[in-house]
Amino acid sequence: MEPRIVTLHDSQFSTYLSEEEIIARIQILADQINQDYEGKNPLFLAVLNGSFMFAADLLKRVTVPCEIAFVRLSSYQNMQSTGKVKEVLGLVDDIKSRHVIILEDIVDTGHTLKGLEQQLLEKEPASLEVAALLVKPECLQHPLELKYIAKNIPNDFVVGYGLDYNGIGRNLRDIYKIVS
Ligand code: 5GP
Repeated sequence: MEPRIVTLHDSQFSTYLSEEEIIARIQILADQINQDYEGKNPLFLAVLNGSFMFAADLLKRVTVPCEIAFVRLSSYQNMQSTGKVKEVLGLVDDIKSRHVIILEDIVDTGHTLKGLEQQLLEKEPASLEVAALLVKPECLQHPLELKYIAKNIPNDFVVGYGLDYNGIGRNLRDIYKIVS
């Protein structure tokens, strides 16, 4: 199929992952989680804003009893990671002795996730795992254990399906990558 191009602010992006492919990959993650978390009542922690579509489509396919909460933690500005780790905001649930699964839109350097994991581990969950929609393995700067990954991607800036470029593009159904 011909690639579709969208223009966001000053940049052009072309289709990279279709909604169908994303959903098929999320179904595989959900199947794994359903097997691994039977009887564990996991608590999903979706990291806003980027993970909202991923969280919704994954949770619709999780069939074990579970809970979801939303946290905010951002260290990304424009197209470059700032490297600064910020505090977890909005975590009102007690995660002590809970089986927690972080839902991340995309892992780039891993700074964000490392900071989040450190803060959550202090609260003594029974277990802590990560489900990431996208991972850029070439960019990882920390040895993170990412148990559930929908797709590994090269080091290209991507938008859509929850991911933004300076505030816009989150509503796109497919994922697009920057045209270099
Ligand atoms: P890290 O801390 O791993 O370097 O960056 C993680 C965060 O950076 C993600 O949660 C996301 O908000 C943002 N990010 C990293 N790569 C991309 C990308 O290609 N596109 C968009 N839209 N955001 C990204």
